[in-house]
Formats: sequence, C-alpha cells, structure tokens
Amino acid sequence: MADVSAECNIRVLCRFRPLNHTETLRGDKYIPTFQGDDTVIIGGKLYVFDKVFPTNCTQEQVYNTCAKQIVKDVLDGYNGTIFAYGQTSSGKTYTMEGKLHDPDGRGIIPRIAEDIFNHIYTMDENLEFHIKVKITRVCVCVCVCVVQGCTERFVSSPEEVMDVIDEGKANRHVAVTNMNEHSSRSHSIFLINIKQEHVETEQKLCGKLYLVDLAGSEKVSKTGAEGAVLDEAKNINKSLSALGNVISALAEGTKTHVPYRDSKMTRILQEAEQWKRKYEKEKEKNKNLKENIQRLEAELNHWHNG
Ligand code: ADP
Ligand code: MG
Repeated sequence: MADVSAECNIRVLCRFRPLNHTETLRGDKYIPTFQGDDTVIIGGKLYVFDKVFPTNCTQEQVYNTCAKQIVKDVLDGYNGTIFAYGQTSSGKTYTMEGKLHDPDGRGIIPRIAEDIFNHIYTMDENLEFHIKVKITRVCVCVCVCVVQGCTERFVSSPEEVMDVIDEGKANRHVAVTNMNEHSSRSHSIFLINIKQEHVETEQKLCGKLYLVDLAGSEKVSKTGAEGAVLDEAKNINKSLSALGNVISALAEGTKTHVPYRDSKMTRILQEAEQWKRKYEKEKEKNKNLKENIQRLEAELNHWHNG
C-alpha cells in the first residue's frame, strides 16, 4: 500500500493475513517473524518497509496508519492514492473494502467514507461540499486493456457511499459471469472527488482520492498457465510493472520523465502526481520563510547599527 505521510510522499506498508482454513488443513506453517514495527524476516532474509502489520492487526489499526491523514489532506485540497498490491487471495480486497457492513471488519474505503463526512460536519458552515464517487474497473484481458463497469454518483452521506459500493459489487458480479473472468484479473479504482466552495468568498478547493485494489500480482511461472490465460497473466504483469515504473520515477524525484502513458491505469492515476507539487509548494514556502527571516535580521541589524 502506498500512502502519503507528513515526511515522505510515498510509503510502502506490508500486511500479513492469517493462514486460511485450507492452508491450516494442509499443514502449512506460518513462517514470517517480525522485528520492530517495520521489518519482517522470511527464510532468514530481512525485508524493511515503512511499516509491517502482523496477522493480529485490526482493520482500525491499518486504517489509522495508512489512510487517516490522507483524508485530512484531501479535504485540504490535495490528491492522494492508496494501492493494495499482492497476489490473489493475499487480502487486498479485505484491506480495501473488508466486511462492508460490520463495524470492526470494515476496511479502508468504508472508514474513509465515514471519516470524510465526520470532518465535514465539524467544518465551517459556509463551506459547500460536492462529493462524487466513481468506481472504475480496468480489466486486464488478453491483448487489450479495457475500462468497463463505471458507477458514478454524487453522495451526501457515508450511507450513500456504501450504496454505490454495493451497486458496484453487483455490477461486477454480472460482468464476471458474463465474461467468464475473475475480479483478480482486473484493477478496481474507487475515486472520491471532493469539491468545496466558500459561499461568501467563493473560494474553491478540490481534492481527489484514488483507492485502488490491483489485479493479482502472481508470477506467471508459478501458476503453470498456458495459452490465453498465460497471455492474460503476462498482460497483468505488464500493467503492474508500468505502475511500478511510475512509482519508481516519482520516488526518485529526479527523473524528468514519468511514464504515465505506458498503461491505461497509470493514465487514470496521473492526477495523484499533484502530491509532488504539494511538497514543492511546501519547499517554496520554507524558502520564502527563510528569506523573510534573513530580511528581518538585516533590517534589525540596520536599525541597531544606524
Ligand atoms: P485478494 O483480494 O487479495 O484476492 P481477499 O481480500 O479476497 O484477497 O482475501 C482472501 C481471503 O482471506 C478472504 O476470504 C478474506 O476474508 C481473508 N482475509 C484476507 N485478509 C485477512 C485478514 N487480515 N484477516 C482475516 N481474514 C483475511
Ligand atoms: Mg480481491
């Protein structure tokens, strides 16, 4: 999952799910061990992330660490993205959506929906909000990448957001049976678009939040796939590596070219790049502050000496 914190504009957090029933029956052993809150040891190798979540972590803990701050930032007019990346059945949908109507089991998306409205209820009464949610499925089928199954709606309560999610799920179900393909072969993009306007000053602010449940990242060689299924898996890997290339270019921060145009999904997500501009703006503000202090000091010296 990538998220934005105050210190850094890309963060990678890693969550482990418990063994499922089949794995337990099969006698699978749970091998990861954890060191501190950012390191996992698997097969003697250390893997360091911004944060690791062992199997006993709650949906609430994941939300607080991954998404809480981003909600505030989006209401301040910035854009952000949270991705769930991992192989099929690793817990991406559980983390992003979870048990939608269970208070403890709810994942990141329903918690965000509630948090946004809780913030709005406490904000200036002179602010008028227009909130639109949109669910897009980018299907990584054989040969082509198609965008299908869009649900888009203005919402005025967390319940209405949940209605859109439920509807989106129902649509997806129809698409899955019609096309004989599985949701693990498509990226699901949930977009929350928040526009606010001050009724007196007419000052406007707009923030977008992309919540992405990516297609399964399983390696082709491990799945023993052939023919069309193999082509499809290769396409998913291509699409995921296009995303990886974009994230690497952004993380390096020095590259002038970010390859957004290499895949349909990265084009859709291009706007989240505005995060970078936030930090540039912040840097500019700091620079101005420094210059102001220097000017003040000079003036003070001048005043003292003269
Ligand atoms: P993915 O979307 O990555 O294919 P899912 O989110 O559908 O995987 O998870 C696969 C199964 O594992 C589901 O039955 C889900 O309820 C369960 N699961 C995933 N993560 C957890 C977790 N952290 N705790 C308990 N069950 C989980
Ligand atoms: Mg899933």
